[in-house]
Amino acid sequence: MYLPDIQLHEADTLEAAAALMEQLGPRAEYVAGGTDLLVDLKTARTEADHLISITNIDQARQLTADSEGLTIGSLVPVGRLNETPLSGTWAAIHDATQVMAAPAIRNMATVGGNLASAVPCADLPPILMVLGGGVDLWSRTGVRRIPVCEFFTGPRTTVRRHDEILLSIHVPPPANRSGASYERFALREGNSIAVASVAARIRLDDAGMMQEAALAIGAVAPTPLLLENIPAILAGRAPNETAWADAADAAVAAADPISDIRGSAEFRRELTGVLTARALRLATERIGGDST
Ligand SMILES: Cc1cc2nc3c(=O)[nH]c(=O)nc-3n(C[C@H](O)[C@H](O)[C@H](O)COP(=O)(O)OP(=O)(O)OC[C@H]3O[C@@H](n4cnc5c(N)ncnc54)[C@H](O)[C@@H]3O)c2cc1C
Repeated sequence: MYLPDIQLHEADTLEAAAALMEQLGPRAEYVAGGTDLLVDLKTARTEADHLISITNIDQARQLTADSEGLTIGSLVPVGRLNETPLSGTWAAIHDATQVMAAPAIRNMATVGGNLASAVPCADLPPILMVLGGGVDLWSRTGVRRIPVCEFFTGPRTTVRRHDEILLSIHVPPPANRSGASYERFALREGNSIAVASVAARIRLDDAGMMQEAALAIGAVAPTPLLLENIPAILAGRAPNETAWADAADAAVAAADPISDIRGSAEFRRELTGVLTARALRLATERIGGDST
């Protein structure tokens, strides 16, 4: 596996990157950490004559948390996000960042790249989906925000136009009395991608019943999926094992996994049910008093 001949270009600003993309045309690709793209170029899954490095664009490096929400610049390395203290349900993002790859890859891999590459087993999409995250796509005509749950259109495809740069990810503030979690199964602890994954978020009302519930599954369908029927299945109910079993049945029914060297479709369905109950249980355990 050798890299084909490729010309590397560097852009320091969004404008400069867009100008290069317009000039170089469809056989040019943006590159951030390169941990997905270089593998795809070596294996000819992706073909390109030009790479436009966007790693020096400061506008996409911010990481801020305030009452408006959490903003993660697309070029923030996964390792930096993992080491940044996060409060409330945002802290469940660390469930994903701490299991991704290994430290060396995490320091190159960017948060935006994990979404833009649209690999079905990527770790960040499910947890960002249940937290209500949105991606900001920048182009010369402006910025449009797309909910993470509407971003993916198929394996390795998204709604992002070729000229658009994923600028940042926005996550709304955590609600009171809510908890979240991300659970995955992989064949090894390090440098091993998810065989199946589930993210969950629960909000309880004053009586301890579920007021809101969200569940997303990863690695078991052509795209990560936010399950639309979960609020109707769980809302108004007590957070207990009977409820988790019903949610697990719904998650297994929604899963449409493939068989590959990491596991059969049947194994992935079984995992989906087990991880669903585990994720919902942990999300509920994490719910504190006034806010978590
Ligand atoms: C050994 C190894 C282990 C791994 N383990 C895991 C794992 O456990 N879990 C996991 O989820 N992933 C894993 N990965 C995959 C990878 O590290 C992540 O998906 C990473 O976050 C991709 O980010 P990047 O910056 O390297 O993207 P790149 O490779 O630079 O880009 C990926 C794609 O996204 C596009 N892109 C990137 N950034 C932008 C942007 N801002 N705007 C527009 N388009 C953009 C590129 O054009 C390209 O098509 C692993 C990879 C390796 C090599």
